[in-house]
Amino acid sequence: MDSFSRKVKNELARLLPSAKCCQRAELAAIIRMDGTVEIHADRGMVLSVSTGNAAVARKVYKLMKKLMPVKVVISMRRETKLRKNNVYMLQVVAPSDEEVWEILEFKIHDDGYYILNHPDFLSRNCCWRAYLRGAFLGGGYVSNPEVTGTNHLEFITGNDFHTSLVERLMFNLGLQPKVGRRKNNKIVYLKESAQIIEFLNYIGAHSALLTYENVRIFKDVRNKVNRLVNCETANLNKTVNAAIEQVEFIQVIRDRQGLEFLPPTLREVAELRLEYPDASLQELGQMLTPKVGKSAVNHRMRRLKNIAEELKERKG
Ligand SMILES: [Zn+2]
Repeated sequence: MDSFSRKVKNELARLLPSAKCCQRAELAAIIRMDGTVEIHADRGMVLSVSTGNAAVARKVYKLMKKLMPVKVVISMRRETKLRKNNVYMLQVVAPSDEEVWEILEFKIHDDGYYILNHPDFLSRNCCWRAYLRGAFLGGGYVSNPEVTGTNHLEFITGNDFHTSLVERLMFNLGLQPKVGRRKNNKIVYLKESAQIIEFLNYIGAHSALLTYENVRIFKDVRNKVNRLVNCETANLNKTVNAAIEQVEFIQVIRDRQGLEFLPPTLREVAELRLEYPDASLQELGQMLTPKVGKSAVNHRMRRLKNIAEELKERKG
């Protein structure tokens, strides 16, 4: 897993909601993301939750112990695949009464389980927050904008019902999540940094939020600087092009008639321009005796241009 997502999950795993309704919502969401229910020949119904994140495992354990009168068995194995992460597994061997499952909004029956959704479950805004946090802990991913340069936050799950619930809760918050498909799983995702920031704030991932904010501010400043630089480059090009044109028409006058026939004020400007092709009009004005301003130099340049054009017309 991306180390940034891991950091965000570690931050979220430390938050423990105080209200029972929220504890229940958060645990149910994690279990819907990462949980499985199996029937073991010897032990009966077993609920397992697997996670690669130790902090998440600890949180699930705490929530289970707070909410349910059950025994929780924790085991750890080392993944033998590509990434050798530890996988933590929490197993709840259910007692016979159904109450435990109903705490999690599960209904168990012979061929598996289905999700209950009692009207009082997720009826409160405080629980939406907890539920989305749980869903993120169980199957969320957020890109590190400092590294990838992109904004992406997603939930991935094989459970369609759960996917639409996550989507709906995000809509409730005023976000515009998109839904897509990756292999056999559905994903719910956000792409805009403003929305990701809002979401991270909502679920309580405040350090992660700061990273997003900093990148956004940095990009904003960089765009402004780029706009200024482009603007200045454009002005500079205009100045250079104008100077090239001036040199060209002064050369026409020099070659066809000679600069010595020009009135003294025009002659001085023409000679200086040929000598200093890179100088700005303002700088040329400062070299003249007496000194004149930029607009006066500009005016003289226009007169020189008219003379050059007349000369060209006259002599073909
Ligand atoms: Zn609540």
